[in-house]
Amino acid sequence: MRQVNQVKLGEEFINKREHRESHDRCLWAARMRRDTVAASIPQWEEMRALASDIRKHVLSNLDQYLEQFAKNAESNGFHVHWAKDADEHNRIILDIFKKRDVKVVTKGKSMTMDECGMREFLEKEGIEINEADLGERIQQLDDQRPSHIVMPAIHKLRSDVADIFARKLGSDRDIDDPHYLNSVMRADMRKRYVRADAGMNGVNFGIAETGGITVCTNEGNADISANLPPLFVASMGIEKILPRQSDLALFIRLLSRSALGLDITQYTSHYHGPRKGQEAHIVILDNGRSDRLSSSDYWEVLKCIRCGTCMNTCPVFRRTSGISYDATYMGPIGIVLEPSYDLYKYARLPYSCTHCGSCGDVCPVQVPIPRLILYWRDVVVKQGYGETMHNLEQAAAEPILKNSRNLMLAEKIGLWALKNLPKGLTESPLLNPWAKEHTNPEPPKETFRQYYNREIKPQIDADGEKAGENK
Ligand code: SF4
Repeated sequence: MRQVNQVKLGEEFINKREHRESHDRCLWAARMRRDTVAASIPQWEEMRALASDIRKHVLSNLDQYLEQFAKNAESNGFHVHWAKDADEHNRIILDIFKKRDVKVVTKGKSMTMDECGMREFLEKEGIEINEADLGERIQQLDDQRPSHIVMPAIHKLRSDVADIFARKLGSDRDIDDPHYLNSVMRADMRKRYVRADAGMNGVNFGIAETGGITVCTNEGNADISANLPPLFVASMGIEKILPRQSDLALFIRLLSRSALGLDITQYTSHYHGPRKGQEAHIVILDNGRSDRLSSSDYWEVLKCIRCGTCMNTCPVFRRTSGISYDATYMGPIGIVLEPSYDLYKYARLPYSCTHCGSCGDVCPVQVPIPRLILYWRDVVVKQGYGETMHNLEQAAAEPILKNSRNLMLAEKIGLWALKNLPKGLTESPLLNPWAKEHTNPEPPKETFRQYYNREIKPQIDADGEKAGENK
């Protein structure tokens, strides 16, 4: 099996200048909106800490909460199913559909179903699946996986969407006005909604206390998927549980503000059983989550509430787009999640990180992403999946970083090289990939250590002596 090369795929996106700039601009705007709304709540950091504690508590008592949830959901009229992996998840849903002779399905957004490759599986079985989320539907029509957890087509320009709709829905290619494009989509989807034999949705939160599920959307599409057809199926990872209905107040505030910088999503829908005459199912998926939970190094990844804000802030993600990760989960959360599904395939992803730490700073539930990235790098190297060039660099750096004399010598040689070697060499993209998009600044006259020893250290020493005399 091939390894995903995010650097190469990212380079393709970086070279599409208009796309890259639009992507960066839109995500940074979302990040700035998030900062504004977060700053408007004085207790924001306390809220993050509380949410993290609640998630940790749930994960530490997950078996009890899952049982409580399933019992209450069943008393509400839901049929509850347990799937140990993606295969079982898909088969359970196929069986439900076969029994009811389902031919057409309206599907709301669901990372869990994406993780299981469910749409492709059901389509192979001859079932027509229509994505109800606008971004997800654009991606479906373009035969491409989503590029962001909450904004699946954010890497596309309006003109791309106009082109796709013209090819697939017969609209006017030259009109890329969002109102026009929305009206084209609405007209097409309305017919499909009415024809649907079943609806499907993901789940943002399952509430143990009530057995209800909560879904947040900005288009209201989840409500149509859940309410219009005679059969409804929701898919939920085991970690999505919250203990009490009242916990939602905290998590919905954090989720909507983090995801899009909104006080609340346009639609926050709560389902407490099938509507009259309807049949409703919840499929609860493990798919490796129990193993993640049992890892003392890694279990906190399950706190994630899939808000996507770590993507909006990540400088690598903003420039390279989610498509370049070639994975269900992308960006900072993707590079720590995907290796747990397939270590070899995603061994390079933990290196797609500058270690700025911003993802950890903004995460509403304090998932320690920067630490988890280091954890995976360690695992990758120990498994022998490290890249040859990285391994050579590490081997060369080790004796230098371990010994201060060697480090001082390396600093002097580095500065000499920057000053004296021809730019053709120091800025060769082959030797220095950074130079592909940058020119080196003028080299400083001296190393930082020389500057420190001359300007700063004497002052610190003098202050120390003064403090000693005053004692
Ligand atoms: S890791 Fe944190 S910031 Fe990233 S998607 Fe999950 S909850 Fe959001």
